[in-house]
Amino acid sequence: MIQFSPPHIKQEAVDEVINTLKSGWITTGPKTKLFEKKLTEYCGNKKTLCMNSATAGLELILRWFGVKKDDEVIIPAYTYCATANVVVHCGAKPVMVDINDNDFNISVEKIQKAITEKTKVIIPVDIAGLPACYNEINKLVDNKNIKKLFNPENEQQKKLGRILVLSDAAHSFGAEYKNKKTGNLTDITVFSFHAVKNLTTGEGGAIALNLPEPFDNELIYKSLNIKSLHGQSKDALAKSKIGSWQYDVIYTGFKANMTDINASLGLVALKYYDTEDLPRRKEIITKYTNSFSKYKWAELPVIKDCNRQTSYHLYMLRIKNISEKQRNEIIQKIFEQAVSVNVHFQPLPMLSIYKKKGYNIENYPFTYDSYSREISLPVYYNLSDKDTKKVIEAVVKSIEAVIN
Ligand SMILES: *Cc1c(COP(=O)(O)O)cnc(C)c1O
Repeated sequence: MIQFSPPHIKQEAVDEVINTLKSGWITTGPKTKLFEKKLTEYCGNKKTLCMNSATAGLELILRWFGVKKDDEVIIPAYTYCATANVVVHCGAKPVMVDINDNDFNISVEKIQKAITEKTKVIIPVDIAGLPACYNEINKLVDNKNIKKLFNPENEQQKKLGRILVLSDAAHSFGAEYKNKKTGNLTDITVFSFHAVKNLTTGEGGAIALNLPEPFDNELIYKSLNIKSLHGQSKDALAKSKIGSWQYDVIYTGFKANMTDINASLGLVALKYYDTEDLPRRKEIITKYTNSFSKYKWAELPVIKDCNRQTSYHLYMLRIKNISEKQRNEIIQKIFEQAVSVNVHFQPLPMLSIYKKKGYNIENYPFTYDSYSREISLPVYYNLSDKDTKKVIEAVVKSIEAVIN
């Protein structure tokens, strides 16, 4: 069976983990702090805080910005449930909007229509690794009339004076927009280092802070760091120093810090990301695109355009003029040929909990259309050329069997 996305773990990463295990320090400590520094250097943002997941990072930022009951947060209908669940955790309302018709990302035009005086945050999602239209979104939140609608209710919101743009970049670490990397494209960006993501620490995530003046990103980092560990004024490492046992608790914080074991994996993964992972992913995706472009039924995903360059996370192929049922039949046939594929994503309005909350997929026609014709193909470092060819053959054969 060709797997869908096994992780790329080098022997050097295994050695680094063992080194950490033997060091006597396995929770948040020097390796996590070094990983944060390297991430900041890579992305070019102002300051980075590691977390135990992207989900925890997104929620921590919503809480930091004071998002609460009766507030609205605009998100795409086409994303993983984490993007919406964190909004619900805060008691606020996820306002779902439809996607574009060419790529899978949130439509800026529909964001604009969804903004009200209750909107506090927009969470664009860089689906498949392709950055959302940040220039347009950043411009939109800075628009005079839209700023006038904004109703600041706390110190953070007053300081920003507009809607916060919080990027869900779970897919797009290393992607570029106008030659700038994700993490450096908007106010705050959250990455996921979950096992299936491009760069993995097993479980993990990071908050890339990039807030404009007059925010002090260093100070915000410090306060978020404390909030990610119970609101404890000193972490375990600081407490372990002579005469430093005493600490205070200054918030009812979360428990969402990254461990040095996870950071060890991240440090080695990051070291080889640009020289091994991105180039190999690009090769595989280029093979897919070159092969499928010969077929009239193929609607190829956007990999690059004049502004944007993907992180080659997912290859989201759409098949023209098929029903959801036919798509499912195609997937079944592909699996029968020992190839794992996937669907990204089952739209939020189709999931039980959001249906129950009153969301209806009929209000998101582009989301449904894309979902119903979509199949994600395997893309990962260790997928050989031979297996890539096998995937292509299985996909072509299955599609042609169903549509003809
Ligand atoms: C994976 C994913 C997340 C959640 O990441 P975790 O690190 O598992 O919390 C959030 N958003 C999207 C779009 C994802 O694909």
